[in-house]
Amino acid sequence: MTKRKRRVLSIVLVMVLSISMGLSANATSISDAEEKAAELEEQKKKAEADKASLTDQINAIAVKASETQEKLNTKAAEIDEAQNKLVEAKLVETKQYDDMKLRIKYMYESGESQFLEILMKSENMADFISNAEYVQEVSSYDRGMLTEYQNTVKKVEAQEVALQSEYDEITVMQEELAAKHDEVQALLDDSNTKLADIESEIGDNAETLEKLKQEAANVAANASSGSGTFTPGGGNVVSGNGYFTNPCPSAYISSEFGPRSLDGRTYHYGRDYAAGEGTPTYAAAAGTVIMAGWAGTAGNWVVIDHGNGLVTKYMHHSAVCVSAGQSVAKGQQIGRVGNTGHSFGAHLHFQVEKNGSPVDPRGYL
Ligand SMILES: [Zn+2]
Repeated sequence: MTKRKRRVLSIVLVMVLSISMGLSANATSISDAEEKAAELEEQKKKAEADKASLTDQINAIAVKASETQEKLNTKAAEIDEAQNKLVEAKLVETKQYDDMKLRIKYMYESGESQFLEILMKSENMADFISNAEYVQEVSSYDRGMLTEYQNTVKKVEAQEVALQSEYDEITVMQEELAAKHDEVQALLDDSNTKLADIESEIGDNAETLEKLKQEAANVAANASSGSGTFTPGGGNVVSGNGYFTNPCPSAYISSEFGPRSLDGRTYHYGRDYAAGEGTPTYAAAAGTVIMAGWAGTAGNWVVIDHGNGLVTKYMHHSAVCVSAGQSVAKGQQIGRVGNTGHSFGAHLHFQVEKNGSPVDPRGYL
């Protein structure tokens, strides 16, 4: 098999593995999650802009409310002052009225009393002043003073009414501001809730994305280990005194070289070392790696040329850590036990060939 063909085959294998292990499905989910993340960030930006605008509105309302409260306080003080003035004016007016009535009564007590009777029958001050117009004896001074005081009372009363009306207007404005404040505050609360929801969704989505990426990375790692290379750690492992060292010392022999015991017609050209997947395998002797990688039924395999017509083959690796053309020392790790190719259960098939014919490995160990 040419190198190009092997590469094509290994690419096909990775694709098959990827599809079967759900890499493509995950890739779609990852792009979905990434798209969703971008969308959520957009939503978050919008929600933050809404929140900022509402916060500005709330602050403006608060400033206006405090200005209105100040106006209200000023107006309340003006009303207090007007009320006091009104009381003062009423007191002066009443005193003036009483003084005048007393004076007129005294002036006319001994004389004709018809005018006095008319005056004394007056029901109120306005009536009195009106009646006094026809009484020459009531001094123009008294009449002037009374009218002036009456006017003062009227003026102060009118001023108080105007102030009270302004106060009521400001109170309404303050109530409207409070209602507006509540309204905007409710919107701001909604905005905060929405923003918190979006942020929580962003967190969840990021978690999902991270998980999907981790899964995809694991799948990719598995796929790449399926294609069969890794960097080994540790030194050479040599056991026994034979020409070959044991290629998999921690395994047990599940099948020897020779005719299959259960099937006399087939012949087993190697020795099977059963071991857990990932158990290290070692070069039986020093030599040159002539094949390393994927090969149909052999799975991930390594073939080493030891010279003098002696070749060893190592099959079914989960991964190999040598490459063709490389020299290896006796006991140098070449791969990990696996279950690739025509294999049923993790094991290393170790085959020895002398001048192209399989021989019993036991003769060299
Ligand atoms: Zn075998």
